[in-house]
Amino acid sequence: MNNRQTRQKEAILSVIRGVGVHLSAEEIYDQVQQKEPGIGLATVYRNLKTLCDQQMIQKVTVDGYSFYDGCSDPHDHFICDLCGKISDIPCFEHRELDVFITKQVSGKVTRRISVYFGICEDCLRERDRKITS
Ligand SMILES: [Zn+2]
Ligand SMILES: [Zn+2]
Repeated sequence: MNNRQTRQKEAILSVIRGVGVHLSAEEIYDQVQQKEPGIGLATVYRNLKTLCDQQMIQKVTVDGYSFYDGCSDPHDHFICDLCGKISDIPCFEHRELDVFITKQVSGKVTRRISVYFGICEDCLRERDRKITS
């Protein structure tokens, strides 16, 4: 890997890495461009795939929309139907669930994606404000 490639990969990682970071490939591309002008979208996609393969980040696809998660630890997501905000849900019983599902399918669980939908705290408050005023 040459210097430019290393720099590009680090720039992408610095945008996405972290707890609570959920960005689409296009959003990552926009931010990386400010650090690495001239980087191509294909390069961003290729690096994101490599980072996922190396389990440094994870990709979550819901209803045909994909976002990248800077936290590689297994956790679930809550998506607000009104504003689209994505929140992390820590999930402690993953191991027990995996054992349960392994028994159900007589196979082996290697990954899981759970997404919950609803209305976030901010939108609920906003709705209440509109109702009472
Ligand atoms: Zn919301
Ligand atoms: Zn997450």
